[in-house]
Amino acid sequence: MTSDASSQLFEVAKRLMPGGVSSPVRAISPYPFYVSRAEGPHLWTKEGQRLIDYCLAYGPMILGHRHPLVMERVVKQLEQGWLYGTPSELEVSLAKRIVGHYPSIDMLRFVSTGTEATMAALRIARGYTGRDRIVKVEGGFHGAHDAVLVKAGSGATTLGVPDSLGVPKDTAKNTIQVPYNDLGAMEAALTGFDGEVAAVIMEPVLGNIGPVLPEPGYLEGARRLTEEHGVLLIFDEVITGFRLSLGGAQARYGVVPDMTTLGKIIGGGFPIGVVGGRRELMEMVAPSGGIYQAGTFNGSPVSLAAGMATLDVLEGERTLERLDSVGEDLRKALAQIVEDLGLSYSVVGTASIFKIFFGAAPKNYAEALRCDKAGYLAFFRRMLKAGVFLPPSQYETNFISAAHTDDVINETLEAYKSNLLG
Ligand code: PMP
Repeated sequence: MTSDASSQLFEVAKRLMPGGVSSPVRAISPYPFYVSRAEGPHLWTKEGQRLIDYCLAYGPMILGHRHPLVMERVVKQLEQGWLYGTPSELEVSLAKRIVGHYPSIDMLRFVSTGTEATMAALRIARGYTGRDRIVKVEGGFHGAHDAVLVKAGSGATTLGVPDSLGVPKDTAKNTIQVPYNDLGAMEAALTGFDGEVAAVIMEPVLGNIGPVLPEPGYLEGARRLTEEHGVLLIFDEVITGFRLSLGGAQARYGVVPDMTTLGKIIGGGFPIGVVGGRRELMEMVAPSGGIYQAGTFNGSPVSLAAGMATLDVLEGERTLERLDSVGEDLRKALAQIVEDLGLSYSVVGTASIFKIFFGAAPKNYAEALRCDKAGYLAFFRRMLKAGVFLPPSQYETNFISAAHTDDVINETLEAYKSNLLG
């Protein structure tokens, strides 16, 4: 390909797909780079540039790209066929393992995306309680369906459409927003709409404007308030599941919700979503109950095989322990760089997620919006030039994979040192 292969592809793409992309956050201005291959911690662009990847497909690639065990299991599954439309042993095996790690999950349904998982979780909560309203945390992103596209984080905030056109007013009015880290606001919402709220849905660590961490007592408080008001608590652990610990944020913080949604990592990089919860809730899902959920690709064997292989590595090689300490060292080193440069930026994160906020560390959505978004984007471009691919927004979390070696991390730190200042 020529040196501007990506720009040429994008010109064609723009005529064929809205904004030239298949998902909004990928529309990097003036044009995104197109990838020709990926291996370990690296992506290679069509132009042949090697990039260190901290986007990691927005979270799933925790083992790095093209992990040999995942590939071996996927190939083996392909040899046995890849979609049956009937149950397979793999779904029983993976379900058992997930249930073993998540105390909140007695039973689960495999779906194909995180979006479907949260859509199903909310339907189950509404079906179970017979109530229509839900409480959502501002800046939380739970996928691209109507009920949750209200003050949504991720690309919705980056691109200025946190409240999407096309969401019926009658749907949006049932989604009550509360700020993160604000138990008073949650209590007011639950009291104000007493008897009308089916569930509180939240990312336990707010990954889609951040990361923004829970203040001490916040998750416990959310658990207590929802219990007091007879409202279900849903933790959307699509980002945090299998990353903050094998049992997600709920195991790390010791707070057990009524329902949990998972995705990303548990598909090993293949499409997946999981909605799980207490038995009495999940028993209400069809065919055992009257809450409908279905999908041609639910429990797709290739995704399950990749998920099983990923879990084998995560469980067997104490991968998360190493990743946690790499994350901690990286955050410390970045904080030192910020200090040495005399910048009023903040380094935030936990486990293997991190971010530099161009401003004070936010504790909620409104504070995150005050950061220097344009300054961050300019920094993102400088880093890309320097060979480091960070997610292209102040409001997306950076992820570390098990393939990020010390050398790769050191190269990254050098790039931060040289590029943080414009
Ligand atoms: N929940 C959270 C917390 C997410 O971060 C995302 C996607 N980034 C989703 C749900 C939606 O998942 P998917 O893109 O697989 O539909």
